[in-house]
Amino acid sequence: MKHNFGAGPCILPKEVFEEAAKAVLDFNGTGLSILEVSHRSKEFEEVVVETERLVRELLNVPEDYSILFLQGGATQQFAMVPMNLLPENGRAAYLDTGVWATKAAKEAKKVGHVEIVASSSDQNYSYIPKDFQIPADAAYFHYTSNNTIYGTEVFEKPATAVPTVVDMSSDILSRKIDVSEFDLIYAGAQKNMGPAGVTLVIIKNELFGKSGRTFPTIFDYESHAKAGSMYNTPPVFSIYVSMLNLRWLKAKGGVDVIEQENIIKARTLYEEIDRNPFFKGTAAVEDRSRMNITFVMDSPELEAEFLALAKERNLVGIKGHRSVGGFRASVYNALTISSINALVDTMREFEENHK
Ligand SMILES: *Cc1c(COP(=O)(O)O)cnc(C)c1O
Repeated sequence: MKHNFGAGPCILPKEVFEEAAKAVLDFNGTGLSILEVSHRSKEFEEVVVETERLVRELLNVPEDYSILFLQGGATQQFAMVPMNLLPENGRAAYLDTGVWATKAAKEAKKVGHVEIVASSSDQNYSYIPKDFQIPADAAYFHYTSNNTIYGTEVFEKPATAVPTVVDMSSDILSRKIDVSEFDLIYAGAQKNMGPAGVTLVIIKNELFGKSGRTFPTIFDYESHAKAGSMYNTPPVFSIYVSMLNLRWLKAKGGVDVIEQENIIKARTLYEEIDRNPFFKGTAAVEDRSRMNITFVMDSPELEAEFLALAKERNLVGIKGHRSVGGFRASVYNALTISSINALVDTMREFEENHK
């Protein structure tokens, strides 16, 4: 068995893969593959309705928010957010906490005026800036709740009265959130919700048409909401597999239960990183992510040797992103504590080998 610590596309539960495989051959006894059914069929419409219902239930999404399943990844949201929310003469506030946050701001700058309220680029994004002012007249404030590459996470929404937009691609559904604190939440599914190809958007309906701009319909949140995510052919299979994964999460007891598991998983690995003299964490302790755990070695020349041992022990996907180096263990919802234990055991074995 492989222990998949990959950052995305990510591990999903085995039951989900098995169900999905069956539906590729015969979807719900229709005699047709999920890959060939009409997206307008009753059977598939039920899938979209159930997926939306599960998101609403698991995240306790209020009635005045729409739940959309779009394409183009979180990257398309970098562009759609300013097109929909930033008026011609307005300005948007962005918090710069890493590569994804920078890319989001860069796209917004192509649409209008952007102000970076704070940045942690001075220390290679190893911490979350704390003291910054968000202009009270900003059209919206944008931040990234979990910095997948650097292993930092924002657990509390920064205080502001302006509409808040958050990229939750890599920590959506990993912990409890109060959706009513936010005005727009988006997440590429492939980090924690499902396979690549679908992007979740949760948007407060009063934001529709906010920018007053004219732009292509395909980028308009309201058009997608009015069409129930069927403005054009949706990513049928990605939505279906996401539904299976959301059913799995619900059966497990929901977000509260997975959050407790995620806390224990992260704590177990951080404790070993802090104890083992060969390893050290890269993120500021108070900002440590529970989803992407980044660490390096005191002696970088040993890193290749540890990677080789990890490979022998069936640990996959732990090489760090090139902008941080070292290692990154992504410990999304479907990764079990036994996989964490396998990594910890391997770190101890490495220590023993070098005594
Ligand atoms: C992976 C990731 C993205 C990019 O997602 P795509 O779906 O590939 O466009 C954006 N933001 C965060 C936080 C990510 O982890």
